[in-house]
Amino acid sequence: MVNKDLNAKHVLEIVQSIGTLMAPGTVVIGRDGRISSPVFLEAAASGLMAAGCNVTDIGMVSTPALQFITKAYRAAGGIMVTASHNPPQYNGLKVIDSDGVEVSREKEIQVEAIYMNRSWRLANWKKLGVRTRATDDIDSYRMSIMKHVNEDEVRAAKLKVVVDSGNSVGSLVTPRLLSDLGCKVVQVNGEIDGSFPGRPPEPALENLKELQGSVTANGADFGVAHDGDADRAIFVDETGEAHWGDRSFCLIEEFYLRAHPGEIVVTPVSSSQAVQEIALRHEGRVEWTPVGSIQVSRRMLEVGANLGGEENGGIFYGPHLAVRDGAMAAALISEILAKTGQRLSELFASLPQYAIAKGKVACPNNLKGKVLEKAAKEAEGERVETIDGLKIWFKDGSWALIRPSGTEAIYRIFAESRQKGNAVILVEKFSSIIRKLVSELE
Ligand code: MG
Repeated sequence: MVNKDLNAKHVLEIVQSIGTLMAPGTVVIGRDGRISSPVFLEAAASGLMAAGCNVTDIGMVSTPALQFITKAYRAAGGIMVTASHNPPQYNGLKVIDSDGVEVSREKEIQVEAIYMNRSWRLANWKKLGVRTRATDDIDSYRMSIMKHVNEDEVRAAKLKVVVDSGNSVGSLVTPRLLSDLGCKVVQVNGEIDGSFPGRPPEPALENLKELQGSVTANGADFGVAHDGDADRAIFVDETGEAHWGDRSFCLIEEFYLRAHPGEIVVTPVSSSQAVQEIALRHEGRVEWTPVGSIQVSRRMLEVGANLGGEENGGIFYGPHLAVRDGAMAAALISEILAKTGQRLSELFASLPQYAIAKGKVACPNNLKGKVLEKAAKEAEGERVETIDGLKIWFKDGSWALIRPSGTEAIYRIFAESRQKGNAVILVEKFSSIIRKLVSELE
């Protein structure tokens, strides 16, 4: 929490540690719309200049725009001040490498070591960095997205779209992008406000009531909701129904692979097996990764994949940049509607139908490892995968995934089945197993 676990002094020292690796290069910095973001941005700028980096400050921006600009500038790296989908009282940093993708775990460990040992390097007084401001570059990012969809087709479809940026920086990009593509745009929660008065920053389905209502009230073709830094997009069809991100990913995958059969798509183990079913239809292949956007991005670059997606609403479109990008996702869905002339609800209904259920159980961080060991024993006899946490496959094709969150003191539980009821039962079953294991170990 801001000024509890993370204050401006911490940011300064963390960023001096990052700057130690990036100096004497130029680093792009930007921030989301949180109340604490200006404070942390100043500390970040100061830390970089102290370490001898020049700073290009692009101000308020979405994370994917900052990533695109970092790569386009051939900068040494980028730093985004944001807590993404987390509640208003939190904040943090996303550290971007020169290729526009978040830095690898190895680099993160290097930075942590410098920070813990307080061994950052400060520049000689004559070599301190300078700061320049460049707030128009968001236009070049938006224009790059436009190049990757068929503008004429989208324009001809005359789509009506409701954009819910959740009072954050998505409103700097998506409404303008879609209206440049000829869509009629209605906004809800369009004003940037770090207290997030409209809804929580996470576009979880239960947070999207206002958007759902606005889509049906306006007779819109679809609605799109972003998280606090607009790298995620969750879609609402014209009937007002909201769909998890792996459903919209499947839709984009279907159309992408129709045009590019045989290609590889990348997704974490928490995604629907519909991703696999669609890949097989088009002689494609799925690379399953641990959960986390860096995992997907880095794997895409490793295997030369052009498309990745996550159940939380991350769409990674490699021809633009192999990072998750909420605005790019909105453009791709617009293009699919324009090309097919179908309703979004019909398109979703045409996908392989599976039901996913999700849950979470509190678990202290220090018990996570032990809980996983014990849970693995409980699953003996079933087919299991250990790409991330424990994924247990059952004979009827259903699966359950239990995995410790990397950022919160919880276990996340996912299950998928052909029948909704079955997925819910699996989540309940494994939630109570985890609860029991935690209470035994406490
Ligand atoms: Mg985010």
